[in-house]
Parts: sequence; structure tokens; C-alpha cells
Amino acid sequence: MATIKAIDVRSIHQIQSGQVIVDLCSVVKELVENSLDASATSIEELMGLMWVDIRLKDYGLQAVEVQDNGDGISPDSFKNVALKHHTSKLSTYSDLNSLQTFGFRGEALSSLCALSNVHIITARSDEAPKGTRLEFEISGKLKGKSVTASQKGTTVVVERLFGNLPVRRRELEKNAKREYNKVLGILNAYACISTGVKFSVSNHMVKGKKTVAFATKSNLTTRENIANVFGAKTLTALVPLDLKFELQPSPSTQKWSNVPEEGSKEVRIVGHISRPIVGEGRQMPDRQMFFVNSRPCGQPQVAKAFNEVYKSYNVSQSPFIFADLRLDENSYDVNVSPDKRTILLHDQNALLESLKASLIELFESTDQTVPHSHI
Ligand code: ADP
Ligand code: MG
Repeated sequence: MATIKAIDVRSIHQIQSGQVIVDLCSVVKELVENSLDASATSIEELMGLMWVDIRLKDYGLQAVEVQDNGDGISPDSFKNVALKHHTSKLSTYSDLNSLQTFGFRGEALSSLCALSNVHIITARSDEAPKGTRLEFEISGKLKGKSVTASQKGTTVVVERLFGNLPVRRRELEKNAKREYNKVLGILNAYACISTGVKFSVSNHMVKGKKTVAFATKSNLTTRENIANVFGAKTLTALVPLDLKFELQPSPSTQKWSNVPEEGSKEVRIVGHISRPIVGEGRQMPDRQMFFVNSRPCGQPQVAKAFNEVYKSYNVSQSPFIFADLRLDENSYDVNVSPDKRTILLHDQNALLESLKASLIELFESTDQTVPHSHI
């Protein structure tokens, strides 16, 4: 057998990066999350002044560009911005519990540098209309910077994704259209949950054709965002979702956990769902969006619970679901998968049971008649 020795640093970087950035969706998701994190000043959000513009070239095969009018990157951070595990959002592990941002591991930009050509143009409010263009090495080290024109905010450009991973690049090229549709599905969720932020998403073909996929205004409600993304007609079929219940700590948790015993926890699930009588036709995953404390995520078990209850009222259609689980910050873990799409829910079974019971209550009290505008 060969002797055991350490993998060289560059290879480790490549291996790990391929797990953070698995496909085109992860690129767009990471960049959009960075833009939303960069505009954390709630006053701007309340005034509806924030925007994020997502531009794909050739369905993302050529380039993905995400531009925001956020705070920009400060010059003393330029050399660290794309270094692995360098972040402005978290400094110790215990900060994770009180995290207000999407990002926290400082891995996205460094991974993108390993898998594509990245450059950033950024300007803070006191610098614009002058800004800085930053270029990076594969390792994430700053390679060069130059002065350029820029409005306040940041643009991150990712070109030739997976150019140095031939198998993934070929897969991406083969499935470009499908990947693009998946990207739109993810962006729907971010655009709908981000109240006070104007989203625009477009695709530009090299031959010149530009398609605007969707645009929201800086609406102050998720309902208005849904109307912008899915069409105003969608709203007529929806009822507000506001489920509230208490979760009792399960006996096994009390017995084994070394966390001090706690009392019951309140769960609230807020959003919108189709009336049982008017669903959305066949199953449409992009019309079912789940969030934990406003963080978009995949919640297959929660989705299953919703769909099961819905099915007992409407066998032929599946519902539009927009559900934000408002949970105590100690009752879930975001740090489970590299892409943070999986969120571990503490006491998931108890939560699912209570969810189903209160959803039935909601449907029982919902007006079952079809709204006029939907006939
Ligand atoms: P993380 O988001 O986990 O911190 P990233 O690699 O995604 O890690 O980003 C590294 C750092 O770069 C962020 O912590 C942030 O300070 C800065 N940054 C990235 N994108 C932007 C942006 N659009 N605007 C301002 N700062 C940004
Ligand atoms: Mg990030």
C-alpha cells in the first residue's frame, strides 16, 4: 500500500471548492446572498432603495454577473475578500446562533476563484463614481487592482464556470437551459422573500437577444412580490397562511441532551397557500417555496406534510406554497451542508404533526368557494 501523506494545499482547495459550488444554481445563490448581506442597512430596505440585478450571459455559460447597490467593499478588505474562510460576518463559532446574514463561512468567493474567472468592481458611497476593479488568482489571492468607473455598490462577475473541470463543464453545457430554469426557481424564492429589495433577472445571448425573466419592485409585502414574479392572477387563488403552535420538548431530547431542559417553544409559519379548491395544476416545485427565518431552503419533509394535507382536500392538483418557518434560533442548524440548502430542524417530527393539525384547521375554516376572477 502507498504511504499516507498530506494532500497538497492547492488540490485541497480544488476538492472543497467543488463541493461548495456544485452547479450554476450555487453560483447565483451565493452571489445573490452576498448582495443581500451587503445591503443590511434596514433604513434603505424600509425606504425601498435596495436593488440586485442578476445578468446571465448565454444562460450562464459565458458569465454570471450580480450587481447590487449595497455598501461596497472597503479598500482594507481587498486583499482578504476571496481568501478561504475570510468573512466579515462571523468570527467565532458561537456567533452562528445569532447570525443575521446568509453567509458566514467565507467560502463562496474563494471557491469561485478555484472554478472560474472572477473579477469584482466595487465602490463605497464616499468613493463613487470612482471604483476599484479587483482580479484574483486561482487560490483567491488578490492578483491586481485598478481604478475604474463604478456607482456605489458591488458587481461580481464569474466567467467560464468549471472551465478547468472538463466533466462538469460538459454537463453544464449539455443542460444549459435546464440549469437556467433551476436558477430562476431559486431566484423566485429570494425575490419573493426579500421585501424592500428590487430584483431584476435577465439573460443575454451573445447573438444579441436579451430576455428579462422577471423583475420585482421594491415592494413592502411578500404578496406584492409574488404578484410581480408569478403574475397577479396567482394571488386570487391564495389564502394567507399564519399557523401558530407550541412544541413540547420530546422526552428523548430531555433524556439524552446535555443542553439544559427547556420549556415549550412557539413556532409560527407565515406565508401564502392555494385555497384547497384551486391548486396550481400538477406538481410544480418552483411554486413551492420554503424558508426558515426568511432563509430560502429545501425542506422536503415539510413540503411532504403540506402536500399530504392538501391532497386530502384536492386530489387532482398541488398547491402554491410560500411558507416561512419562524423558529427560535436555537432550534435549527444551518451549518449542515456546504450549500446551506439543508437546514436541520430540531424536533422535526413533532413540528410536522402540529403543522398538519393546524393546516387542517386552516382549511376547515377557509372559504371553499372559487374566487370569481379565477373561473
Ligand atoms: P461569506 O459570505 O460567507 O462571508 P463570501 O466568500 O461569500 O463569504 O464573501 C466574502 C466576503 O466578501 C464577505 O464576508 C463580504 O465581506 C465580502 N463581499 C462579498 N460579496 C459582497 C458584496 N456584493 N458586497 C459587499 N461585500 C461583499
Ligand atoms: Mg457569501
